[in-house]
Amino acid sequence: MSETIFGKILSGVIPCHKVYEDEHVFAFLDINPLSTGHTLVIPKEPAKTLDALSDESAAALGRVLPRICRAVIAVTGVREYNVLENNGPGAHQAVDHVHFHVIPKPRHGEGLGIGWPARPLDQQEATHLATKLRAALG
Ligand code: AMP
Repeated sequence: MSETIFGKILSGVIPCHKVYEDEHVFAFLDINPLSTGHTLVIPKEPAKTLDALSDESAAALGRVLPRICRAVIAVTGVREYNVLENNGPGAHQAVDHVHFHVIPKPRHGEGLGIGWPARPLDQQEATHLATKLRAALG
């Protein structure tokens, strides 16, 4: 697998504005922010999508993400925000290395805009789906 741009940031080949680092996690400012404070939080493990990530990296990210959110709130003064993680090009993933966006939502028209084409849950379909998902989760 060729190194992604985030792999190059991790190895120091490409510069970034680092905001956090520990053994498993790295965080830096997004180069094209949707709003001031837009931060990317990535595992050091070079997994392409979230489903490919080890439990160890996942746990480390889970521990750190709320802390980074608190720092972004404290520094920007913006209390509302979105955490976004895209998987696959059809789901808007441009960089093939797991990354969580922390995106402050200062006001309407800034930050993340979301399309949410919801439809009511079909109860029969839901019963089958939940059964299959429970089985898949072992
Ligand atoms: P995604 O569409 O979820 O894959 O998001 C990729 C994000 O990476 C975008 O928000 C880009 O602005 C950001 N990005 C790409 N290259 C860099 C870079 N060199 N430094 C910081 N952020 C970057």
